Amino acid sequence: MIKFLDLQKINLQYQDEIEAKLIQVFRSGWYLMGSELAMFEKNLAQYIGTEYSIGVANGLDALRLILRAYIEMGLMNPGDEIIVPSNTYIASILAISDNGLIPVLVEPDINNYNIDVFKIEEKITSKTKGILIVHLYGRVVFSAELEQLAKKHDLKIIEDNAQAIGAEWNSKKTGSLGDASGFSFYPGKNLGALGDAGAITTNDENLAKTIRALANYGSNQKYVNIYKGLNSRLDEIQAGVLDIKLKYINHENDIRRTIAKHFISNISNTKIILPENPENEKEHVWHLFVIRTENRDSLQSYLSENGVQTLIHYPIPPHQQQAYKDWNSLSFPISEKIHNEVLSLPMSPVMSEEEIAKIIQLINNF
Ligand SMILES: *Cc1c(COP(=O)(O)O)cnc(C)c1O
Repeated sequence: MIKFLDLQKINLQYQDEIEAKLIQVFRSGWYLMGSELAMFEKNLAQYIGTEYSIGVANGLDALRLILRAYIEMGLMNPGDEIIVPSNTYIASILAISDNGLIPVLVEPDINNYNIDVFKIEEKITSKTKGILIVHLYGRVVFSAELEQLAKKHDLKIIEDNAQAIGAEWNSKKTGSLGDASGFSFYPGKNLGALGDAGAITTNDENLAKTIRALANYGSNQKYVNIYKGLNSRLDEIQAGVLDIKLKYINHENDIRRTIAKHFISNISNTKIILPENPENEKEHVWHLFVIRTENRDSLQSYLSENGVQTLIHYPIPPHQQQAYKDWNSLSFPISEKIHNEVLSLPMSPVMSEEEIAKIIQLINNF
């Protein structure tokens, strides 16, 4: 069987280094807020190209904490609106509503599945305070138009960089393009931990300080609490493992690019719509290789019967979720079409040439 993602194989590439680190941290007796976290934060900031990086417990917390910090800083207030793509993973939207902010959904561009920048301005009101962009599937969404729009309306650009670590726009990495960025190191992400983990990057010193305090019970100084904070920490074991895997992320993303190129040049079934390969290949890190077809469910069963595991990212659009009942009667036709037609093929840095060839052949025979 060709697995959708073979996490065991991915992590065993670095078995000696990772196991040595696990033993080192175990024996050190120091498990939180130590040298492993400090080192990973320093290296992540350097890699992304920002002044600050803060390790937190997971990707959802990273996004929640950015918005919460803007509220504590007086730059946003509960009831304010944040623009977000209507086809994103639910976590981007949860981070907004969790803070008492109002998510305002904007449809994606059907050609690249990212928020349609030209549909944003019509949704901006006097309450709009930010745009939460999501580099979905690993594809950068950024442009001079987006930057100008944010400047014109005095909006913060927050990046959900959970799926696109290592991608670049204009020689700058995602995570350094907007005002602040949230990362997830969930095991299945391109840079994956051995459990939950996340981070925030920014060049804003005040924001970084506020987030650091908020993630630590609202405290900068032990037993002195400025905010009603939370506990969101990246532990020493995860930080140590991530610091090892960070050294290999460019190499792994390059392998993903090669596989994507191979799929795109060789899948030739007219029933299948392939993902757009950006002119500048740095603009995609292929967290997911997502194809589209009207016969999605039968293609998925056919591949499964022939030993190829696939997934759907995502089967139900946010506005049709029970969690957001107020939106259930709204219509977002492009999102709905995407959710009905997309299928994610296996994609990882450890796939063999035979596996790739088999997937291509099966799809061409469908
Ligand atoms: C994975 C993911 C998140 C959430 O990250 P967790 O670490 O699972 O909390 C947020 N946004 C997007 C787009 C994601 O893919």
